[in-house]
Amino acid sequence: MFVAAFEPSANGGVGVAFTDRLGGVSHGSYGPLNLGRTDSDEPDDVAANFSLVRQALGVARVATLHQVHSADVVLIDEETFPADRPGGELGGSAPGGLSLPVADGMVTTTPGLALCVRVADCVPVLLADPAAGVVGAAHAGRVGVAAGVLAATVDAMRDLGADRITAWIGPHVCGSCYEVPEEMAEAVSALVPETASTSRWGTAALDLGAGCEAQLARLGVAATRHGGCTLENERLHSHRRDGAGAGRMGAFVWLAG
Ligand SMILES: [Zn+2]
Repeated sequence: MFVAAFEPSANGGVGVAFTDRLGGVSHGSYGPLNLGRTDSDEPDDVAANFSLVRQALGVARVATLHQVHSADVVLIDEETFPADRPGGELGGSAPGGLSLPVADGMVTTTPGLALCVRVADCVPVLLADPAAGVVGAAHAGRVGVAAGVLAATVDAMRDLGADRITAWIGPHVCGSCYEVPEEMAEAVSALVPETASTSRWGTAALDLGAGCEAQLARLGVAATRHGGCTLENERLHSHRRDGAGAGRMGAFVWLAG
């Protein structure tokens, strides 16, 4: 169920977890542990998958976003995510679903409320300052990295009092696999030089993980990497590998309740 996970009791009071494809109830190419795609997967199956993950993590509530590759960040609190609406991770047309915030970063100071970004090749970045009681999560794909979603998320955490922030970078398509057109590689690496890469077959590529790590370092945030390459590991969801049939993994961060 998890490619990497750290319990709050062993991680300074902050829980961190990155799911894989295993241990859920979805059918077909999804997984079986698909935490996204309620448009084409069965919403009941996705809800059951979230329930299994919540039980495994020991968290009662999970907040998610309607992700659009932006640099927008939202504060998740009792107003945006009321305690009497469990199961709010299912947005849009899902039965009982909340209308999800449209953004790619989120922050909270609410203990026991897990933040979850969903990915299948893009970079999930989890952040925390446990002493200040602030956590954050960002969905950092090519567009988000270039647009500065990580800086925006760190800024939002600092507005809440975060000072010493640590980051966990989850599984994503690596710089040897993420081939892009040459002009696209040049445009992104002009903004974030550390993304410059070459595919293992010698063409232009982007290393988004290195880009995220460098952006975080410039913000004074030390990061560690977990989970490896999504495209190379069939235990992980990959949009590049599986196309429209790809499911989504979840990256979770929360303050001990
Ligand atoms: Zn790779």
